[in-house]
Amino acid sequence: MPDSAILWFRQDLRLADHPALMAVAERPILPVYILEDGPWAPGGAARWWLHHSLAALGRDLAERGAPLVLLRGDPRRLLPDLAAAVGATEIHAGRRTEPAGRRCDAETHAALQAAGTRLVLHRTALLHEPHQVRTGSGTPYGVYTPFSRNVFGLLEGLAPALPAPARLSTAPGAPAGLSLDELALLPRLPEPDWAAGFAAYWQPGEAGAAARLAAFLEHGLAGYADRRNDPGAAWGTSGLSPHLHLGEISPRQVWHAAQARGGKGLETFLKELLWREFSHHLLWHRPEMPEAPLRVEFAAFPWQPDAALLRAWQRGRTGYPIIDAGMRQLWQTGWMHNRVRMITASFLVKHLLQPWQQGEAWFWDTLVDADLAANSASWQWVAGCGADAAPYFRIFNPVLQGEKFDPTGAYVRRWCPELAPLPDRFIHKPHEAPEIVLRGAGLQLGRDYPAPVVELAAGRARALAAFAALKGDAAA
Ligand SMILES: Cc1cc2nc3c(=O)[nH]c(=O)nc-3n(C[C@H](O)[C@H](O)[C@H](O)COP(=O)(O)OP(=O)(O)OC[C@H]3O[C@@H](n4cnc5c(N)ncnc54)[C@H](O)[C@@H]3O)c2cc1C
Repeated sequence: MPDSAILWFRQDLRLADHPALMAVAERPILPVYILEDGPWAPGGAARWWLHHSLAALGRDLAERGAPLVLLRGDPRRLLPDLAAAVGATEIHAGRRTEPAGRRCDAETHAALQAAGTRLVLHRTALLHEPHQVRTGSGTPYGVYTPFSRNVFGLLEGLAPALPAPARLSTAPGAPAGLSLDELALLPRLPEPDWAAGFAAYWQPGEAGAAARLAAFLEHGLAGYADRRNDPGAAWGTSGLSPHLHLGEISPRQVWHAAQARGGKGLETFLKELLWREFSHHLLWHRPEMPEAPLRVEFAAFPWQPDAALLRAWQRGRTGYPIIDAGMRQLWQTGWMHNRVRMITASFLVKHLLQPWQQGEAWFWDTLVDADLAANSASWQWVAGCGADAAPYFRIFNPVLQGEKFDPTGAYVRRWCPELAPLPDRFIHKPHEAPEIVLRGAGLQLGRDYPAPVVELAAGRARALAAFAALKGDAAA
């Protein structure tokens, strides 16, 4: 009988196109998931998703004959004992880019070696290997366009996706582990069940990911280039981000399926997948990215932290409808449209002068797709301090952005229903509506909907002055 192996699931909670799983599928295996503590442990919304994703993976594995073992704690301590219990000589897992995860993997590798067990890492989450892809001069990429050009070229030879193993056999001596409920991932009393509504929007797990991809290819891909910036459009974008984050579907499956479908929209969509790759490339090479500005001069930026302003933004009560609609969509569904993520993030760091790390932390806790690489790279990009960032002085006007990308107000009406009776002309600027229009819509600003928390021209001038002060400091 061949030696047993452990398959350590991390951000690749699927059976199909899983190189680490396929490497051990012919041997008796112990599939394990370890809930780890530490910096950037999953936030609230991501924990909701993780619960349901583990439930789905557990069912799929049990059906094939190798039930999933759930554990909680430090892999450096747990895995050597587990390997000894099942007589495993190898542990296979997907490579990760998060700094704490990489540190943990290096130390787990060392701890296992002492006991004669190998930790073997595979590419399960990305299309490229961040440590292998380099610029012509041998440095990591810091700019998206040349990165994407290079990776696009490499992907011409992308191998086909792997099938899921039909049967698995379980390693003798496997411990029972914890029950899913014992992982305590869901909101619990006395905490209100803020995630109660999520299930109406999402189906976590591999089957849900496949269904979403199929529906997007059918209804969304052809119109993607035209409609991906319309936050109110059905299937304007794929909604695959939480599935991709936890690896319920691989980027290689998505890449090949989109190419097979082809047509208009394809190239734009593939480029978005490469933004995901780029974020992970950056995180791999700049592990400080989640906490510190990549442009170091921004460490001295004169932010003006203000708890009341931050709270108004978090709760969708800023008085600017596109901002409030986005923040409420986030709260109610665990997801926000990309265009609106950019507008809300810009408003927080520019008009409200709140540190980008505050916005990053809120998104971390409330997004079902919260992903350390994509979230930190995007916040730094919006704040102007990222590697390939939009210049700080380019400041989105939330009223004009709303009018441009949500011209009929369908998105705002959906998430801010109290504004629904307003005529289109004022749907993005109720504060400019004459009293008679407000009265006709049954609205009193300050009572039914907030008055603006900041005046746009003043907020913009303050942001530009802060930026000028920073540049002055840098020059001094
Ligand atoms: C401030 C801010 C924070 C963000 N935080 C996250 C996050 O925590 N997790 C996350 O997955 N994305 C994040 N994004 C990127 C982007 O908003 C989401 O990936 C996208 O909205 C997901 O929706 P979708 O699956 O319908 O995307 P689609 O348009 O269908 O794109 C397909 C896939 O490409 C990837 N992708 C698309 N755009 C980006 C991008 N700009 N950066 C990285 N990957 C991208 C995603 O995996 C996405 O699922 C953030 C963007 C901003 C501006």
